[in-house]
Amino acid sequence: MQIPADRLRNLAQAIFQRGGSDEGEATQVAERLIEANLFGHDSHGVGMVPAYVNGLQSGELNPGIDVTVEHDRGSFLLVNGNAGYGQVVAAATMELAIERAKELGVAVVGLKNRYHIGRVGAWGEMCAAAGFISIHYVNVFSSNSVVAPFGGSDSRFTTNPYCTALPARNGAEPIVLDMATSRVAMGKVRVAHNKGEQMMPDALIDSQGNPTNDPGVMYSEPKGALRTMGLHKGYGLAVICEALAGAFTGAGTFGPEHLSPGRIINNMLSVLIDPGAFGEREAFDDEIEKFTKWVKASPPAPGVDEVLVPGEPERKSRTERLQNGVPIDDITFEELLAAGEAVGLARDEAMRIIGN
Ligand code: NAD
Repeated sequence: MQIPADRLRNLAQAIFQRGGSDEGEATQVAERLIEANLFGHDSHGVGMVPAYVNGLQSGELNPGIDVTVEHDRGSFLLVNGNAGYGQVVAAATMELAIERAKELGVAVVGLKNRYHIGRVGAWGEMCAAAGFISIHYVNVFSSNSVVAPFGGSDSRFTTNPYCTALPARNGAEPIVLDMATSRVAMGKVRVAHNKGEQMMPDALIDSQGNPTNDPGVMYSEPKGALRTMGLHKGYGLAVICEALAGAFTGAGTFGPEHLSPGRIINNMLSVLIDPGAFGEREAFDDEIEKFTKWVKASPPAPGVDEVLVPGEPERKSRTERLQNGVPIDDITFEELLAAGEAVGLARDEAMRIIGN
């Protein structure tokens, strides 16, 4: 089914309010999830609501939480998210980071111990809108590991996302590279599994380490694993994310001691840089504009409509989905209704919010 974005947002908001958030927090979290759906990343959209309800019920996610600044020295800030909603504590932390970068030209900001952060690109876009280049390295503590190291045959860490966002001249759109270091995000395996679809051939291994395109290997015992993107190179970047988000911030790197049911804790190192630090901001904008034009002028390969730069596919998706609604498969919809019931939102009330 295709559901208008505002109705889905209202349903998610109602569930979060029943789960203990005030209206402001519930709205902020719901809007970020819907934004992920609009951007085409259903893996990080309202399909995460059941996982968040699970987090609330297992005590791994705390509603109504403020951040605590643990370390504040010049351009270095370390913030504890106190296992609050990632969407809320990351926004508060990025505001602190932007203030610091305005003052000093650079900010190196650790954010540890906050519940699932969603699309990392959201935080890159926030920094870009304030005029800063930003680089974000993220690691994840979860109920289980999901990604195998290059050459390994079982999972040892998770999908460690990475993002770099570049600000654009006033009124232009930023370049946003925002990605899991696994071949695909785990949520995309969930979506394929729910839809009964197969994955691409290089995304998964079974429990013996053999390549497979069956998403079911992540939902049966003994479990298979996701592969890193770009073979050894993506694996290398995943290790760097673990080191910078986990070891450097003091949050910790992934290991059995961080496994816990209902847990999706993200730690993140963000580096914000003034694009005019080495010259005129104008010159930076000119070069980005020139290079973007140059690469986009490459004649599209057979079967391709247009050469895009990172961030463009998401914006195209948003335009289309704002018009046509967000596609939600039956299993995800049923899981949403069940998550609502688990926090006391009756099915008929949920259906009324959705408009059915
Ligand atoms: P993806 O593979 O769909 O896209 C990755 C990047 O490639 C994006 O920047 C996109 O704009 C760009 N891109 C895609 N197609 C392109 C094209 N044809 N031309 C040019 N650029 C193109 O993303 P993904 O790896 O599946 O990640 C999805 C989301 O999951 C991201 O928002 C990521 O932050 C999020 N994520 C979050 C967590 C977490 O723990 N919070 C973990 C993993 C992933």
